[in-house]
Amino acid sequence: MWITNCRPWGGNLSDVEITNGSISAVRPAAGRASDAQDSIVEGNGRLLLPTFADVHVHLDSTRLGLPFRPHTGGPGVWTMMQNDRQNWRDAEVSITERVDLAMSMMIARGTTRMRSFAQVDADAGLERLEAVVAGREKHTARADVQIIAFPQAGLLREAGSAEILEDALRAGADVVGGIDPCTLDRDPAKHLDIVFGLAEKHHKPIDIHLHEPGALGRFSADLIIERTKALSMQGNVLISHGYACGKAPKPKLPTS
Ligand SMILES: [Zn+2]
Repeated sequence: MWITNCRPWGGNLSDVEITNGSISAVRPAAGRASDAQDSIVEGNGRLLLPTFADVHVHLDSTRLGLPFRPHTGGPGVWTMMQNDRQNWRDAEVSITERVDLAMSMMIARGTTRMRSFAQVDADAGLERLEAVVAGREKHTARADVQIIAFPQAGLLREAGSAEILEDALRAGADVVGGIDPCTLDRDPAKHLDIVFGLAEKHHKPIDIHLHEPGALGRFSADLIIERTKALSMQGNVLISHGYACGKAPKPKLPTS
């Protein structure tokens, strides 16, 4: 197959040859004749890029493609989560259809690698996770999807939360999630011990939402790093958002 008259990475007009699914040649555009229509894709001078990756998407919390709905949540993670609980089942279409619609729109626009959160908690159980798993299965030929079991309601505030998180790992989640261990659960060591304990037990990577500000957020980040090193999980632990890390004071560099 040839993709003709395209600009790889915005470079010069080129013809790109694909053999067995891989790029085998890139040549200056030669105005190739259309004698083999079925194996030529006309690039029309457009950009040629690798497919996009969305590494932080909440496929179970989307209203893409649905009518506008005013924001009714209050401030803070807990209040917004409560608001979501009251409303997520009552959207115009089911959660499974919303996941499917969002994925279809993403794929149509070139995003074929996704890392999606799926909320698991005492209210939703595995319902939202199952919707994202169903979406992954439906689009398996078109997109690579990793799913993070996301305990948005914390792990210590409601009975059974840790058990549901573990159930999610058995039900198709690829990654163990966590969230704001100080401000939400108010017991960072206990929260992180559950998250890292499950990761170790099930051999899964970790992705933790950290919205905590300033010194508190950096304290949580330190605890995460400490556990990452203790379990030799370097390269398998991600802090999402991590605003506090971006605002950390610059380390003092040696002057000579
Ligand atoms: Zn998020």
